[in-house]
Formats: sequence, C-alpha cells, structure tokens
Amino acid sequence: MMIKVAPAVIVLGQNSVTVARKIISVLPGATIYGLAGRTCEVDVSFTNFGETLRELFAEGTPLIGICAAGILIRTLAPMISDKRQEPPVLAVAEDGSAVVPLLGGLNGVNDLARRIAEVFDVQAAITTTGDIRFRTALLSPPPGYHLANPDDAKKFISDLLAGARVKLEGVAPWLSNSQLPIDPDGDLTIRISDRLVTPTPNCLVYHPATVAIAISDTSAAEDDVLTSVRQLLTDAEIAPASVAGVFAPISAAVNRAISAVANALGVPARFFTPNQLKSLLSQGYSPAQAAAVAATGTSEQLISSLPIAIAISPQPIEPSTIGQSRGRLAVIGTGPGSSQWMSPEVKEILKSATDLVGYKTYLDLVGNLSHGKRRHDSDNREEEARAKMALDLAAEGRYVVVVSSGDPGIYAMATAIFEVLDRHAKPEWDSIDIHVAPGISAMQAAAAAIGAPLGHDFCTISLSDILKPWSIIEQRIVAAAQADFVIAFYNPVSKERTWQLTEARNILLRYRTPDTPVVLARNLGRPGQKVTVVTLEQLAPAVADMRTVILVGSSKTRKIKRSDGSISVYTPRRYT
Ligand code: SAH
Repeated sequence: MMIKVAPAVIVLGQNSVTVARKIISVLPGATIYGLAGRTCEVDVSFTNFGETLRELFAEGTPLIGICAAGILIRTLAPMISDKRQEPPVLAVAEDGSAVVPLLGGLNGVNDLARRIAEVFDVQAAITTTGDIRFRTALLSPPPGYHLANPDDAKKFISDLLAGARVKLEGVAPWLSNSQLPIDPDGDLTIRISDRLVTPTPNCLVYHPATVAIAISDTSAAEDDVLTSVRQLLTDAEIAPASVAGVFAPISAAVNRAISAVANALGVPARFFTPNQLKSLLSQGYSPAQAAAVAATGTSEQLISSLPIAIAISPQPIEPSTIGQSRGRLAVIGTGPGSSQWMSPEVKEILKSATDLVGYKTYLDLVGNLSHGKRRHDSDNREEEARAKMALDLAAEGRYVVVVSSGDPGIYAMATAIFEVLDRHAKPEWDSIDIHVAPGISAMQAAAAAIGAPLGHDFCTISLSDILKPWSIIEQRIVAAAQADFVIAFYNPVSKERTWQLTEARNILLRYRTPDTPVVLARNLGRPGQKVTVVTLEQLAPAVADMRTVILVGSSKTRKIKRSDGSISVYTPRRYT
C-alpha cells in the first residue's frame, strides 16, 4: 500500500470546523470530513465514523482527528498491524492546544504534527525518543533518501541513545547538520551511497535518489527493456533504490516500455520537450543520453546501451521538478446530479487530477472533489474551445479532467475532444494519455425513477437543431416512430427553441395513440427533482425545459398504478 500525501481531517462537531480549516491551510490537498447532521460546510460528509475512519486508514490516508486520542485509538485498534504500512494518525484538541501524533512514526507523523502545531503556536507532543534526541528521524529520511535496512534501525537507534557514536560516510546534509553524535572513530556507521552495499546491524545504508534512467523510443518489448535496465544497474553496481526517475523525450511518452520500467522501479516517468534536448542532441548525444544528461545535469558517469542511458547526479534529484509528466486527459461523466450516482472510478480521477475543465454548473456539481485543483470554467457553448484548452493543458504534462454531466459520450464533451483531435491535430497532443470514464445518463436515471420504460428497444434523439438541421431530426423522429422505439428526447426545449417539441409530438401522433405514456424527468439527482407522467397528447413546450429529459413510450409501453397510489411506467420485453 502507498501512504497518501493529502490527509483527511475528521471533525465530529461544527465547533471543530474552524480548527480544521486552519489545519488544512498548511496542508495542500487535505480534505475535511464532517459527521453528517453535526457539521456543515465540510468537504465530505459521513455517517458512520468507524467505517469511514477504517476505510481511510486502510487506503493509506493520513488522519487528523479533531477529537480525543482515545476515540481514534479504539476505532483503529483492530487495524493496527504493520507499522511500516500505517499512515500518520494524530489527534488535535478542539481548541488547537494539543497536537498528538499517535501512529505512522515511519511515515512522517512527527513532521506532520510539527507543521500543525506551528499553526497553533504550540509544541507538538512528540514522544519518539530517537526523534527528540537527534531532531531527525533516521527511520523516515527526507525525500530523496531511502533507508536500505530499516530492520536494523531500531537497535541502531537504541545503541545511539545508549551513547554510541557514529561515523558518516558519504554526503547527506540532513545527517551532517543533525544532532547525531558524529565521530570519525565511531563504532556505528551511516553510509550514503548509490551503490549496492551490504548493510549490517552496525551500518545504516541510505540510498540517495541520484540516478536517472533514460530510455529513447524503442520497438523492444517492455520486458526486454526492463531486463536490460536491471542488467545495466547490476553491472554498474547501482542500487535500484537510488533510481530517482525514468526520463525520455516527450515523443516517446506513449511507449509502454517507459511506463513499465518506471512502474517496476516505483519511480515517476518524466519527459523532455524537443526544445529542452535540442542543444544536447546537437552536441552529439543520443536521445537517451541527452535525456539522462538533462535529468542529472552531468555527463560524468554516463552509462549507455541503446535504447537506455544512465546518468548519476552528485546530489539527489527531484523528478517532479525535471521535465514534465506525460499529460493525461480524462473525460468523465458525473451522472445526472448527486454524488451517489458518480462512479468510484470518476471520484478517483477527480481526486488525482490537477485541472478541471468544464461548464461552470457541472464543475459546481463536482463540489468538494474540486477542492485544491485549478478550475477552468467556461460557457456551455464553447465546446470546441474548451476541448482545445483541455488538450493544450494536458500537453503541458497536467492531469486534466473534462467534466460532463450524465455520460460524457452522450451529447457531451468526449465527442468534442475526439472531433478536435481528428480535425485540428497538433503534434504536442500525440503524447497525451486519453481516457473516457462513463457515467449514468439522464435517460437511465429517468427510467429508474419511474420503473422500466427503456426495458425494450429504444433510441435517443436530441431536439437541439444547433448542430444538425431540423430536417434530419424530423426524419429521425419519423423513423423512430415507425420502428416503434421508445424515444428519449434530450435537449427538448430551450428559451429560444420551443416549436421543435410541438413538431415532434405532432409527428409521433401520426404513429402512436394520444394516450401513449410520456415521462417528464426534470433535475434528476439534483434539488427539485420532479418526475411526472403525462400522455403524448399533453406533451407541450410548457411542460419541459433544458433540465428535462423526456421518454416517449412505444406502442407497448404501459402505465400501472400500484396500491399505494404510485405510478410506474414500463415497456414489456415480449411482443405477444
Ligand atoms: N451527457 C448528458 C446529456 C447532455 S445533453 C447525459 O448523458 O445525461 C443535456 C440534456 O440532457 C438536457 O437538456 C436534458 O435533456 C438532459 N439532462 C441532463 N441532466 C439532466 C438531469 N439531471 N435531469 C434531467 N435531464 C437532464
């Protein structure tokens, strides 16, 4: 399990919300979870405290409870097993007077506690002896350093606490500037090395993230490239834990071998634009060598064997500051309205994205999940411009989510994206990873609300004649009526467009009886949801608007009244 970065702040009462807000102001991406009924204006509302907490804990989310430490301890107790796998958990007093780290010592709970304590101008209640003595947690080194032998660390630290002295081999400012009892003649050793070294109980080994692996575009199979990378590392006696990232020219971003190597080594893949590599290429470096040198800033220890090159930097490198990631574009459907109709996949995508693009109303529907992301709202009509903007942002390496309501492929943005890709292709867009995540369409929500009117063959027709001429729409209605389809009408009327619905009804009346059931579903899944059943004869522009989807029954569609007075509409599956 990966420990997540963005914490969840749990509040049980409205009094704690102010404190929670202060906390998240220093923790980018953090989310406030509030107990339903007791809190408002929180990011996520929950009803079951225990389940919610245990779920977040199990997925590695750092937890900050504005509550008694005991509540957290009792709730999480059954889950506590592996200290290396547990996220930070801490309790904060409702008035901010105490910040108590409870779990996750190996995953930075003390650092988190100090950051929060600073906000309230108090001392974090740090209880880890080693941490206090050395002001530095040997067990959770800063980013850029990996401890090779954590199992040896416990005894190592107790030896230090008992007075042993330690000699430092290699360079690591966070260790040399710490209050460790450093002594060139010490019995204990801390070694900082990017080479394969065998750790011992008396020698802690830290691998600095100094190694860049670069791969140029290749037709070799993923597995073969991975094997070659491992072989090169072994031959050069480089510790895989010192690999900071996998680097490549952006033109190679679509190559699966690159992501496969990055995933296998558990590091990010980062890419360079042609401009960033131009001067190195002109000096005679191969594309892989150029990427390796660009990543580390040095060609001193360049190892290369096509299509791979390895370069080693004197200091740890931070891949997130080098080049860019492969751009991602997800086109998602949020469902008709409420979040219970949003798929877990869509929620996951919204959590990970950096940028949200969409019509303002739809972005507002995403609500809490849009917290901490760049929002690019736009007018509903500028679909093409919006699609281009989304692709351009993704080409810069951002994770862009284009938000549609309902399903993104039904009269919505997914199509706009592919139209733009098809008609206005730019080379920068080639490397973008594009993904469409489905949603529940308005017609499905409407059908579910009233029974099963789409139970047999059906079709959808948009009554908007902005993108297609009325003559086509008219033809389609005739054909659908002749074929006896149930018809879902999207975009039935707008302020400027009213006669189309009357026209549609008149055509249908030539083929279907005036009492054919018609479902009018407005604001599905949103405040003010209203689902009514009328007859085809009663269908008029006044009964619908842009927030209504209309389902017109086939000749078989039936309306039934149940004993409680409720009405259901369904279309039988058999023609008898
Ligand atoms: N992609 C959307 C459809 C977009 S077209 C989907 O799959 O649902 C816009 C039309 O969809 C509206 O005019 C209306 O007919 C219908 N619609 C979208 N959301 C709706 C909702 N919550 N309630 C009723 N109709 C809705």
